[in-house]
Amino acid sequence: MGESTVLTPAGPPAAEHAASEGQTPRAFPYRCWVEVSRAQIAANFLAIRKLVGPDVEVMPVVKADAYRHGAVEVSRALQANGARWLAVSNTEEGVALRDAGISARILVMADFLPYTRETLLAYELTPVIHSLEDIAYLDRLAAACRKRCRYHLKVDTGMSRLGVRADAAAIGEAILAARNIELEGLMTHFASAANYQSGQTEEQIAAFNLLAEGLAQAGIRPALLHLSSTIPVAYARRAAWGGMVRPGHAIYGYVSPVRGHAHGKMLDVKPALTWRATVLSVKDVPAGALIGYGGTFRAPQPMRVAVLAAGYADGIPHRLSNKGSVIAHGKLAPIVGAVSMDMTSVDVSQSPEVMVGDAVTLLGTEGKARMDAQQIARLAGTISYSVLCGIHARVKRLYV
Ligand SMILES: *Cc1c(COP(=O)(O)O)cnc(C)c1O
Repeated sequence: MGESTVLTPAGPPAAEHAASEGQTPRAFPYRCWVEVSRAQIAANFLAIRKLVGPDVEVMPVVKADAYRHGAVEVSRALQANGARWLAVSNTEEGVALRDAGISARILVMADFLPYTRETLLAYELTPVIHSLEDIAYLDRLAAACRKRCRYHLKVDTGMSRLGVRADAAAIGEAILAARNIELEGLMTHFASAANYQSGQTEEQIAAFNLLAEGLAQAGIRPALLHLSSTIPVAYARRAAWGGMVRPGHAIYGYVSPVRGHAHGKMLDVKPALTWRATVLSVKDVPAGALIGYGGTFRAPQPMRVAVLAAGYADGIPHRLSNKGSVIAHGKLAPIVGAVSMDMTSVDVSQSPEVMVGDAVTLLGTEGKARMDAQQIARLAGTISYSVLCGIHARVKRLYV
């Protein structure tokens, strides 16, 4: 994980740009950095809590280093604002949070690999079990360690990724046979939550409910039933909320658009991350100049080009070559030529005052100009999740 710096309201660790004017963001002595607003993370979390109400637990998903926002700082902010649960993908991510002093319950959603099982228990992480054999394995392990062990069971209701695909009788038998461990949660995950033209989500909800009823008849009633990530929360598909929801994207301020007819979007969240880079060089090139690797861009007229100290090694998608834009001095500046490993060239002819050392915005807003992860994803032919997760660990993180 990259280093992070928490900025106090008192001021920056670095010199402000002398020529900072109008909408120009504050410059920092870094080539490329993100500014994460802990207040916005908290506001997004509280907006979700308000929408689902007091009877539904909200478990923010902080896997993949909190979608690159920084899992430790994000978890601290969430815990300080009342989060009782956090979800990660694997044991290592859970251990990092425990080592940083996070005391909330931590659900490990996609692990239980043989070499992580003992660590899971030692760090009081809560495993998601996704096979019947692993229920028995966890039972033996808990008995050997003499530890209280609660677990969540994931069932495959139609996505065919992780989860048990067995009938209620077989699942019930495996649960009841495991006397040293406690089934606390039953969960599933949707394959097509964003597609309201598909019947797959309804089918998955029905399969889940049928299974939960079958288990209840066998006397198995886990405290927490959970199915929903951001989309069924944000578009108020209440039948999928159960007793707990697992939003990730919305915590960071994003809700993807859906296909087909849904309830209106009920959730108001805003991006918490701004991504910036420093201008490394500015120069004028004549009409006809070829720009960058492969000469894929030819200047149609004389042009002022700024070279940014960030490239695809920082997470700027290579597919933004000749397609994307950044914001320089409040105006969109198109990416010209191929994105390089450590540098990206942009056309700043519309904002000729740009100077070496200025900060430009790769993702965020400056005045009226806006570039968010969804816009970048559309331009790059990918998804907003991948844009956020693609921000490299070498990009400095600042908390504002
Ligand atoms: C990543 C993940 C989530 C969160 O999804 P978002 O769309 O980011 O809200 C929830 N549940 C599971 C099982 C996940 O893997």
